[in-house]
Amino acid sequence: MAKFKALLAAKTEAGQSLSWQELGDEELMAGDVTVAVSHTTINYKDGLALTGKAPVIRRWPMIPGIDFAGSVIASANAEFKVGDAVVLNGWGVGETHYGGYAERARVRGDWLIKRPAALSAEEAMAIGTAGYTAMLAVLALERHGLTPAAGPVVVTGAAGGVGSVAIILLSRLGYRVVASTGRTSEADYLSALGAAEVIERAQLQGPARPLGKERWAGGIDAVGSHTLANVLAMTQYGGIVAACGLAQGMDLNASVAPFIFRGITLAGIDSVMAPKPVRQEAWRRLAQDLDKDKLRALTTRKPLAEVSQLAPEILAGKIRGRMVLEVG
Ligand code: NDP
Repeated sequence: MAKFKALLAAKTEAGQSLSWQELGDEELMAGDVTVAVSHTTINYKDGLALTGKAPVIRRWPMIPGIDFAGSVIASANAEFKVGDAVVLNGWGVGETHYGGYAERARVRGDWLIKRPAALSAEEAMAIGTAGYTAMLAVLALERHGLTPAAGPVVVTGAAGGVGSVAIILLSRLGYRVVASTGRTSEADYLSALGAAEVIERAQLQGPARPLGKERWAGGIDAVGSHTLANVLAMTQYGGIVAACGLAQGMDLNASVAPFIFRGITLAGIDSVMAPKPVRQEAWRRLAQDLDKDKLRALTTRKPLAEVSQLAPEILAGKIRGRMVLEVG
């Protein structure tokens, strides 16, 4: 029986523990495709799972990690054969089904996406759930009919994973991007990604007035709470804001004024249960539209062994851009 290394989160009296374990293939959970994982990543949600700061893990013990990239080593699914390059994001993996912080994973084939040929496994994990969510948000703006001619787009949590990838995508598509960040020391980094203007997040962090000066035609918000309320209040007539995150908080103390006086649309973005055709379109567009040099510039590489030290850092907003974790 083949053995592989995995990070196992277990419930303890004090909360939870993390330990590296050697498991056998037979201990993997049910699924029709087994994958040799080559790369994974850490997202904000992984930080919550690893530290136990939010109940992301809902089955114990659990191998955390909501994303992985690798190649198929066994398949009973007609869509996948041995050697296929695949990517997984979400579907409860790392929450209720063993996840990506392991040398092997077994999942349902209909959760897997075939990795686009234009992207390496490392690039796919530099994108990860954060980057794929940024693409879902851009697609929501496009579905609404937003174009660069309508005006600027604000991106909040700009120096984080979702924010950094959103800036690259929007600037490549011709939008003028306003980047909101608490790390103004990263202004040069954000400009290099494609931000035309960098603003201090303090401008958006306090309680919002019902309506403010119209500053942008659209927004991608990774922060929630007062920040999202302010972004809505400052969106120009007919604009759209895609909400995908909660880094400031889960609350939303906003007014209906932007909706009923300016016809603003608030689009919700969920990456975890997004249907397969939506994911395939997002990954197709990522392969087509993402500037790979800029993707490289926002990526840091670390061995998977360091993941538990990185968890408090991502929650503290100390990780810039995206982190690829090399497995094995
Ligand atoms: P990161 O930690 O990489 O980025 C979050 C960024 O938010 C930080 O870098 C920081 O940006 C900003 N931020 C952090 N704390 C605060 C605060 N208290 N107030 C205001 N801004 C803050 O996380 P990700 O990019 O991986 O994820 C971003 C958010 O999106 C998370 O809430 C995550 O849970 C959510 N998410 C949701 C998904 C979905 O399916 N809906 C999928 C993926 C992520 P800066 O330093 O520039 O200010």
